Amino acid sequence: MKKDHNEVWKNCLNIIRDIVPATSFRTWFLPIVPMKLERNVLTIQVPSAFFYEYLEDQFIDILRKTLRKELGADAMLEYSIVMHNDTSAQAKPYTVKMPAKENTNLKSQPVSLPLINDTQIKNPFIIPGIKKVHINPQLNPEYSFKNFVEGDCNRLARSAGYALANNPGKTAFNPLFIYGGTGLGKTHLSQAIGIEVKARYPEKTVLYVPAHKFIQQYQEATRNNTRNDFLHFYQMIDVLIIDDVHEFAGKEKSQDTFFHIFNHLHQTGKQLILTSDRPPVELTGLSKRLISRFKWGLSADLQSPDFQTRIAILKQKIYSNGIELSDEVIEYIAANIDTHVRELEGALVTLMAQSTFNKKNITLDLAKKIIDKIAKQTKREITIDYIQKVVCDYFDMNVDVLQSKTRKREIVQARQIAMYFSKNLTNSSLSTIGSQIGGKDHATVLHAYKTVNNLVETNKEFRSYIGDIEKKLKFY
Ligand code: ADP
Ligand code: MG
Repeated sequence: MKKDHNEVWKNCLNIIRDIVPATSFRTWFLPIVPMKLERNVLTIQVPSAFFYEYLEDQFIDILRKTLRKELGADAMLEYSIVMHNDTSAQAKPYTVKMPAKENTNLKSQPVSLPLINDTQIKNPFIIPGIKKVHINPQLNPEYSFKNFVEGDCNRLARSAGYALANNPGKTAFNPLFIYGGTGLGKTHLSQAIGIEVKARYPEKTVLYVPAHKFIQQYQEATRNNTRNDFLHFYQMIDVLIIDDVHEFAGKEKSQDTFFHIFNHLHQTGKQLILTSDRPPVELTGLSKRLISRFKWGLSADLQSPDFQTRIAILKQKIYSNGIELSDEVIEYIAANIDTHVRELEGALVTLMAQSTFNKKNITLDLAKKIIDKIAKQTKREITIDYIQKVVCDYFDMNVDVLQSKTRKREIVQARQIAMYFSKNLTNSSLSTIGSQIGGKDHATVLHAYKTVNNLVETNKEFRSYIGDIEKKLKFY
């Protein structure tokens, strides 16, 4: 009896399953749909052009072997690619023919990006006609791993970063997406990875670029008609670090270009490191396809450092500045400046400046005077803790109750209100808010936010509660 496409593909999968790792199998083979079998040509449908290129890159040998086993030496494979066009919801399938022969150069298929030509590429970092090896990575040597203090607040991001620096483009952390609030070390950590790669692999081209600079370069390239040079320049980077990708919001053309660069680098085994002030799911103003790319690797967050980590950071800064501070002074700073690392550094600098200026030693007394002033200013930034306190005061309940698992109506509502204000009045991400208000996830916070918004619109009494609380929060 003649086999049909389903059966042939099923047999192929049975072989492939034993050869490739389970996660790869799930990611790259289960989504494939066998379409038809005509003589020796099997057509399979894949979800995207990228998917097709990745299969070609990584699994072509396996595909060829298994297919030949099933269909004989002249087996052919044809892809049907579902093209996702952002402007229309309709998928347009189109096909790429692939004779299952060893020496076919598949990189020249229509879906690939243009090949790189080193000599003609203009470097948007000013130096024209530059050769690949001379690209300045734009890294600040101060931002090394050595100077980056490890703590619970950054362990995952730090160790993933360190691991990939040993093996850029070869780990599952591609892209590595580092997110967290301002001053928590995103720039430092992402640069540390670049520095480490350069130390281990001097021949690799590393480039650090803030998203706003990328956007600016892209716009300039558009004006000067040098977009291709721009694209080519970025396509020859081995390790590309883009800082603050949330700044791509609303910049559709730049996003588009970045999307192509991302795909090209990813599919050629290059490493991407991205930072953002919030996790991929919460990025607004970015295209869906770009956000979905961001989720391919590992997303790891940086949180506010705890007391012990704050002490360790202070000690490290003091040490590298060559000054001496007593332990009680260090502890006083760490106990009173608890927002973010940049603030901690600021306090230290002010303290040093004051002591030099007044020719005084930094005693605990002097430290107290200065730090209390700084702490008062920083507390003006409304925090999630503070919001919880105000909301609880208003409803005359204990913060512990708000934080507990209880589902009592009044408490759920107070919790939702605290979440609502945290989203409105702080820069924290939904997941940070959730984790600080009763250990909830970002979806719960989003739901709370919508619920409160609805009630504000529809319920007069509720609206007046919210107004009262808002006044209290702002008069602080
Ligand atoms: P972000 O990019 O998240 O706003 P930065 O990377 O600019 O934050 O960090 C702010 C400052 O805090 C920098 O001077 C950085 O060196 C310092 N810093 C942040 N995290 C750490 C850490 N874990 N150890 C030492 N210094 C840190
Ligand atoms: Mg930064």
